[in-house]
Amino acid sequence: MNKASIYGLTLDQLTAWLMEHGHKKSRAAQVWDWLYRKRVTDFSEMTDVNKECTQLLADHFVIQTLTEHTRQESADGTVKFLFKLSDGNLIETVLMRHKFGLSVCVTTQVGCNIGCSFCASGLLAKSRDLSGGEIVEQIMKVQLYLDQAKRDERVSHVVVMGIGEPFDNFKNLVNFLTVIKDHKGLAIGPRHITVSTSGLADKIVEFTDAQLQVNLAISLHAPNNELRTRIMKINRAVPIEKLMQSIDYYLERTKRRITLEYILLKDVNDRTEHALELADLIAHRRQLVNVNLIPYNPVDEHSQYQRSERESIRAFYDTLKKQGVSCSVRLEHGTDIDAACGQLRSKQIKAG
Ligand code: SF4
Repeated sequence: MNKASIYGLTLDQLTAWLMEHGHKKSRAAQVWDWLYRKRVTDFSEMTDVNKECTQLLADHFVIQTLTEHTRQESADGTVKFLFKLSDGNLIETVLMRHKFGLSVCVTTQVGCNIGCSFCASGLLAKSRDLSGGEIVEQIMKVQLYLDQAKRDERVSHVVVMGIGEPFDNFKNLVNFLTVIKDHKGLAIGPRHITVSTSGLADKIVEFTDAQLQVNLAISLHAPNNELRTRIMKINRAVPIEKLMQSIDYYLERTKRRITLEYILLKDVNDRTEHALELADLIAHRRQLVNVNLIPYNPVDEHSQYQRSERESIRAFYDTLKKQGVSCSVRLEHGTDIDAACGQLRSKQIKAG
């Protein structure tokens, strides 16, 4: 029997499962505490849970399914992990150090079908979705790595921006978010969690209705349909007008700020006219929108794209600011390792 990852269960699901199998409700809270607070990696280590229960769990579930394949550590403290899944597929997870805490960027799919033309992750088509447990386990692996260093550090922030389109794996994404937010477990504050989508409008509406209270970021990358379709083929299916409707729905219902990601590609989308067009596009939503400008990390396979000049980035930023748009330039992490998302994975796969 292929055993499921215990990390795939929310506390409610674990409670229901144990009760169905003849155990008291309080047993689930104990097991949960061992998993997420004491962070054991084997059921037999749950010493105050009776043997019958730990055996039952071990018969049906596993705790660890990922193994570390490669790890790159940057001088700035960024750590890039390449994990091997139980079926042999490789995925990337990144730990980043900020002034405000430690954040982890997780992967949600093996490969990606969205096919953004600048992206190293999208070079390999999606072969499957990750389970909720596999997404949670990425956080647990990083937390265990931190625990081993005994510096009393904890993952405080999570960004769902790794390989894959999270909204194309919606059910498992929601499951993952429910587990990591649980205040009796990892207790990662919803305001410290950001999900990033390429802009699947219907799912943005579904996400809004799910009232998960976590932050949303949208990859926009261009201010008009012609340019956005060139950069992101998803724009053919979900043009900017439709995307903006779903964004307005989110803003009206949640009253929360949203981030628009804008990757700056030299001489493609980084001119002043693009900044002005972008400011126009978001003019009436300005109060609730932050534009995050991302200097491009060049990828060998996409040699048509170059990093914008420092002056162009500054000019783009200044133009937006002058138009009253709230914006920031993303700080770079791990520039001395394979910094672009998916770069380490694609290199390792090519190397066989
Ligand atoms: S940028 Fe994100 S959505 Fe686009 S191809 Fe890469 S992983 Fe997929």
